[in-house]
Amino acid sequence: MISENLRQIRTNITAAAERAGRNPEEIKLIAVSKRFPPSAIIEAFAADQKYFGENYIQELQAKKDSVPPNALFHFIGHLQTNKAKFAAEMCSMVETVDRFKLGQALNKHLKAINRHLDILVQVNIANDPNKSGTEESGAEELLSQLNTLPNLRVCGLMTMPPYSPDPEESRPYFKQLRIFAAKMHQKGMFPRIARPEISMGMSGDYQIAIEEGATIIRVGTAIFGERTV
Ligand SMILES: *Cc1c(COP(=O)(O)O)cnc(C)c1O
Repeated sequence: MISENLRQIRTNITAAAERAGRNPEEIKLIAVSKRFPPSAIIEAFAADQKYFGENYIQELQAKKDSVPPNALFHFIGHLQTNKAKFAAEMCSMVETVDRFKLGQALNKHLKAINRHLDILVQVNIANDPNKSGTEESGAEELLSQLNTLPNLRVCGLMTMPPYSPDPEESRPYFKQLRIFAAKMHQKGMFPRIARPEISMGMSGDYQIAIEEGATIIRVGTAIFGERTV
C-alpha cells in the first residue's frame, strides 16, 4: 500500500516535472510521517524513501530509535527555541526557521556538537494570520541575520499557502514564493549554495507546486493515508 502510493507519486512527480520542462531529479520528496508509527517509516524506507518529515520534536524523539538509522528527517513544524537542541541533533534539515532567536539557538547547539545544519526560512507568503513564518517583507533581513551564523547553511525558502479544496488556488502563492526566492538569490542571500531550495506543495497540490518550481515537496496523506490520531 505505502510502496504502491510512493510509486504513484514518483510517477506524478516525473510527469509534472516534464510538463514544466524540469528535471525530475531536482525534486526531493519528503514523506510526512507525523502521527504515523515507526512501522510506516520502516515500510516506506524499504520502498526507497529516504527523507521523512515530522512536526513535533517529542514525537520524533519517540520514533527515532525505532526507524532505520539512515532515514533522514526534515523538521517541518513550529519549533520552540527550547527544543532547538533536539532538532539540531536529530534532523538533516529544519524547514521552519522563522525568527533570528531560533537560528541563534540552533547555531549554539550545533557549535557544541561540531555540526552544520541545512535550514530553510519559512515565509508566510499569503500573510495568513493562521500560519507561522516570517512575512515576505521581513524575510530579507532575517536571511541576512541567519547568514552570520556559521553552523547554519541557509538553503532556501519554505511555505504553506492557505488551505483550499481547489489546488489551483495554491498556484499564485507557489509562483510568488519562486519569484521571491529568485530575487533573494540575486541579492546574495544564499551565499553557501548554488541554487536555492523551494519547499512547497503537499498531498493535494504537489503537482502544481512542481510546475511552479518546487524543489522539495512534503507529502503525507497521499503516501500513508488519512491521519486518524
Ligand atoms: C502535515 C504537513 C504536510 C503534509 O500534509 P498532507 O496533506 O498530509 O500531505 C506538509 N507540510 C507541513 C508543514 C505539514 O505540517
